[in-house]
Amino acid sequence: MNFETIIKNGTIVTATDTFAAEIGITGETIAAIGRGLPVDGARIIDAAGCMVMPGGIDVHTHLDMPFGGTFSADDFESGHIAAAYGGTTAHVDFSIQFKGQSLHTAIETWHKKAAGKAVIDYGFHCIVTDLSGNQLNEIPELVKQGVTSIKLFLAYPGVFMVDDATIFRTMQQAAKCGALIMVHAENGPAIDILVKQAVAAGQLSPKFHALTRPPELEGEATARALTLGEIAGTAVYIVHVTCQQAKDAVRAARQRGARAHGETCIQYLYLDITSFDAPGFEGAKYVFTPPLRPKWHQAELWDALVKDDLQVVSTDHCPFNFKGQKDLGKDDFTKIPNGGPAIEDRLTLLYTGGVHGGRFSANRFVDLVSTKPAKIFGMYPRKGTLAPGSDADIVIWDPNEERTISARTHHMRVDYSMFEGIRTKGAAKTVLCRGKTLIENSKFVGRAGMGKFIARAPYSNI
Ligand SMILES: [Zn+2]
Repeated sequence: MNFETIIKNGTIVTATDTFAAEIGITGETIAAIGRGLPVDGARIIDAAGCMVMPGGIDVHTHLDMPFGGTFSADDFESGHIAAAYGGTTAHVDFSIQFKGQSLHTAIETWHKKAAGKAVIDYGFHCIVTDLSGNQLNEIPELVKQGVTSIKLFLAYPGVFMVDDATIFRTMQQAAKCGALIMVHAENGPAIDILVKQAVAAGQLSPKFHALTRPPELEGEATARALTLGEIAGTAVYIVHVTCQQAKDAVRAARQRGARAHGETCIQYLYLDITSFDAPGFEGAKYVFTPPLRPKWHQAELWDALVKDDLQVVSTDHCPFNFKGQKDLGKDDFTKIPNGGPAIEDRLTLLYTGGVHGGRFSANRFVDLVSTKPAKIFGMYPRKGTLAPGSDADIVIWDPNEERTISARTHHMRVDYSMFEGIRTKGAAKTVLCRGKTLIENSKFVGRAGMGKFIARAPYSNI
């Protein structure tokens, strides 16, 4: 057997195993894992001193997304390049059904955004905001096309929010055809009242974005979504869990035997509500939803990752420039575009805090950033592991590389970093997507158009 590429001298780390072996790649897939693979003519990648792991999968991103009259600053090219630098080789982005549209239109619109630009592989979830037409009947068609997850909002009344009846009907339909329901769980109507009261009282600085969205209202909505899902007989995935209250709701549902999953995002593990004490309007850099919480919630979230109460760490990457975008809300926090940049920083920060921080193993790290996302979202074992027949999405990870995160050196197309000045240990050195090299010795060598759409399988209980 001849291989085009052989990765040698590294330590393979999957979600379950750690062992020394070589990986032989032919075409886009892993052809063999073993020792003493025949070299004849193969390109050799030396992974001495490094971990060799499956490529990161970020299942929560918003590239080129319209919000409040502007668009998130990374498109499918710049966002993908930044992702690749950070060791992420696949992501699932949210296509949005605007009111009155068919779901098909939503997916087509996002396919166009990615066409010709994609560098890493990508899939789509579909945000459903309106069932007034034929949309319920479209859900089985989406599943057949590989769009196997539907997102519903309990927050943002008048924009994305749907009522409980719409949620329940969508859940019942999802249960029939194997779609996974994702929920943004905050009590939108109650938050709306708190926001209006803050504005009326002249409380307009960025900090009030957080103070008007208390964690109890995230916990309430999380429990409600999970309960509705259990009765409808569908699997439910709670996006961006930020606090103890919501984490406890996911944990309780899982203990009841519900098909319930929860993710947190890297920013909630590193940042807290004191970020809003930054001078002037700087706090706007940290305006995303749900908001940052008092610091003690961080320990609850790390603990949930250790105990598998939460199963995934994603980013909710949705960057807006401080100058020219965030400042739309200079005099009123309700007009600040919601979102922050993180797609490049997820693996290094989770490795630093999780593995170097002594909280969990390198295997659990791989599980949280790659394997569980692949399993829950219908990509496994094509992605999310290293095995013969799997896509050759591979990260050669230097566990000892030390860096300092900064907007001056990152590759996201945005003028600030939420993690400015944070020291990290562990970084992607060489990154392959389906056998093609995207990052070689920490330099981008890929090109736009290499990334492919991932048609995902229906949800299967894991
Ligand atoms: Zn999001």
